[in-house]
Amino acid sequence: MENRIYNFAAGPSMLADEVLKGLHEELLNYKGSGMSVMEMSHRSKGYLEIFNDTKDTLRRVMNIPEEYEIFFMHGGATGQFAAIPMNLMKNGKADYVVTGNFAKKAAEEASKYGEVNIAYDGKDNGYAHIPEQSELKLSEDASYVHVCANNTIFGTEWKKFPETNGIPLVADMSSDILSRKINVSDFAVIYAGAQKNMGIAGLAVVIIRKDLIGEHDPKTPQILAYDVTAKNDSMLNTPSTYSIYVLGKVVKWLEDLGGIEEIERRNIAKAKLLYDYLDSQSFYKPHAEKESRSMMNVTFTTPDPEMDALFAKKATENGMSNLKGHRLVGGIRASIYNAMPIEGVEKLVEFMKEFAKENG
Ligand SMILES: *Cc1c(COP(=O)(O)O)cnc(C)c1O
Repeated sequence: MENRIYNFAAGPSMLADEVLKGLHEELLNYKGSGMSVMEMSHRSKGYLEIFNDTKDTLRRVMNIPEEYEIFFMHGGATGQFAAIPMNLMKNGKADYVVTGNFAKKAAEEASKYGEVNIAYDGKDNGYAHIPEQSELKLSEDASYVHVCANNTIFGTEWKKFPETNGIPLVADMSSDILSRKINVSDFAVIYAGAQKNMGIAGLAVVIIRKDLIGEHDPKTPQILAYDVTAKNDSMLNTPSTYSIYVLGKVVKWLEDLGGIEEIERRNIAKAKLLYDYLDSQSFYKPHAEKESRSMMNVTFTTPDPEMDALFAKKATENGMSNLKGHRLVGGIRASIYNAMPIEGVEKLVEFMKEFAKENG
């Protein structure tokens, strides 16, 4: 594992060294099968073992109750922006809480299938804020309420999810799933693209309460229909076999290191390092409001955009890559998902101090 750099990319993002080594060892010949996992039939006994183990481990690690089904689907989180309304907008109406760019995209996609009530829009505060319950204008007859748990681009995260009065709560957890304790039963549906905190691109994970799997909009492509997915155990067609296998490795790694409890402890420590430093100085300006800060994506700016670019360039030269903020907002973004070790964050903070001294 020589010459590895600290990759602060927002996604696809870092994998733990242990996970990569495991993949490497099994790459050419999986457990004496004489072939790579990439070459296996998804219906073979060997692959079905991987598939079911992955599901079981994910269920244990996230403590997913039996009343919930786990789907492995195609199309990333963006596919779910359409799948959610097609499967769940039963009375033609849903509430969307717009706390960032992906939340907005989800709402736009849903508006093709019914009436979308924007229960909150953070546009005016630059999406630096996660709303309190009292700021939400929820409707009484929504089919569901959609939130984005962690706003990857702006660096904000829900600490306390909204109360929805029995209306199903749907959460896009693409960038914070597996990072902290959540109570799955508080949600009707949780979905996530795998390439941030769960593994590699090509896989969307959907965790759904079984009673919500039913009729879908008749125009729903089969591949996005939840009842069809359930009936076929996520194998209506060839699933993303290798991505599912990688997910299995990631959740096993998490389980072995002490599960969500331990990774949450580490994530809190990593985020605290960065935010404590940001709060202690005036060269860098953090973007998110204090109470709304994300543990996964830390966003800030230097005094001007050219300096931001210089920062990212110098950081890369020092073995820390992909710190440039999203093209929509500029600035700097440090994505510190589960696989980022604390040493990477320590190194970043040291670099930030040096950079501020030289350029301040
Ligand atoms: C990355 C991301 C998406 C988009 O994911 P894809 O799998 O590329 O479709 C959606 N929502 C959030 C919160 C994200 O971070």
